[in-house]
Amino acid sequence: MPIQLKQFTSPADEKSLSASSHVLFVLPPDKPARMPYGAVLEKKLKRSHSKYSDLAKTPMSSDLPHGGPSGAPSGTPSGAIASWVVLDAKHNAFQRHTLLRKALKTLLDEKPQTLAIAVFGDDAFRKAAACDAFYVVSVNAAELPSRKKSKDKPMRLKTIALHGWQESHGYAQIQARVAGNTLTRQLTMLPPNELTPTIYRDKMAKLAKDNGWKHEEYDMKKLQKIGAGAFVAVGQGSEPQDAAIVHLSYSPKGVKKHIALVGKGICFDTGGHNLKPARYMHGMHEDMNGSAVVLGILLAATQSKLPIRIDCWLSIAQNHIGPKAYKQNDVVTALNGTTIEIVHTDAEGRMVLADTLTLASREKPEFMMDFATLTGSMAVALGDRYSGVLGNRPELLCKAMGAGTASGERVSVFPFDEDYEEDLESGIADIKQCTLDGGADHILAARFLSRFIEGDVPWLHVDLSSSNRKGGLGAVASDVNGFGVGFGLALITRILSE
Ligand SMILES: [Zn+2]
Repeated sequence: MPIQLKQFTSPADEKSLSASSHVLFVLPPDKPARMPYGAVLEKKLKRSHSKYSDLAKTPMSSDLPHGGPSGAPSGTPSGAIASWVVLDAKHNAFQRHTLLRKALKTLLDEKPQTLAIAVFGDDAFRKAAACDAFYVVSVNAAELPSRKKSKDKPMRLKTIALHGWQESHGYAQIQARVAGNTLTRQLTMLPPNELTPTIYRDKMAKLAKDNGWKHEEYDMKKLQKIGAGAFVAVGQGSEPQDAAIVHLSYSPKGVKKHIALVGKGICFDTGGHNLKPARYMHGMHEDMNGSAVVLGILLAATQSKLPIRIDCWLSIAQNHIGPKAYKQNDVVTALNGTTIEIVHTDAEGRMVLADTLTLASREKPEFMMDFATLTGSMAVALGDRYSGVLGNRPELLCKAMGAGTASGERVSVFPFDEDYEEDLESGIADIKQCTLDGGADHILAARFLSRFIEGDVPWLHVDLSSSNRKGGLGAVASDVNGFGVGFGLALITRILSE
């Protein structure tokens, strides 16, 4: 159920907050001359030997008084709590989101039904602060899968009361981004027995129906028939053989631009015959995150009514062991005719994406972007705070960096020079799947993928090293953070405005 938003143009005072049990104060760098419960904040700062400006690094929380000499009107509920945070012009979106997430933690941990946001400062500050705060509150109020039998009630924030700024659009775009991010996280967090390829495909069919998307499937039979040998090599290892490439299309009337999104959807990755050890197999139900990011972007774009045709191509499979599973030294022929020497069965992501990228590029989109939890070497290079991007147009990479900064979902560019491909020369086939040496596998993987794109479509590859960060990342407090939805939307919006 969507959260109800109540907006009040006038700044909050102690009277208008008197019914609020949970209040977030978002403050400008210059301390406002008057603000409600200013004395409470003063005392808290003094007690903790802090200055007002420290709130720009470390937000603080305190109980609010109710009645008594501080001047709070009678009727303020007992046990009210507030958090204070200062945002300043030097903060980028990632920093603003992070500060707001930290400020909100104490409030949202109590699972309130209503939450008040009070913004202060000049018009420009209040406008921006209201928007950021609304996003961070909403995204962290989302309901996420849990299978605990505990009596703990799930998060059920019903109302956000925003004091000090009013927007006629009611933050529709932000709500769409929240819906997209939430879908991505919900799917990614589902246990693998609850999200097999069969179940995932059913869910996508239902999403397509609910949102008016065109829906088409390339199941294993069809993929074998058209010669998608790279995808089939991975899909054939599972029983039932329920792997498929799912094609969803959002195509509102009268659009001029056409893009394609591709997502890796490995519902569970055992590593295949080159089996992962337990420590590395644990969590491999999240190897479908790329496809969930694509679905999140598509949902948000649809709800925002973006005037653009978006074709989504999702590679849905599991990577299993079994008599039919592919193995080292196999040579398979991809959809575009390229022969691939199998080197490591755990490099299944690039196999399923190869044929999917061919299908996507054959529709001749003006721009194509894939999302995948693809390589361990990207995580080694960046850690889990950033994701990496590579692509075949320098100007696209610049735009991607800008979209990352603007959305608070940061990306870093990696080299994509052709000579890296020398490492993938095979003695028996057109190309090796990967090497056994590790090294710059995130770059080799991108070079490999580029070999399956037809017609030199402008293309960006996003290797999602930041899809799961313990304790949250940027705006989002859960480990699985839906990284990529905000970034993708920001990039698409930039492409649309050209
Ligand atoms: Zn793998």
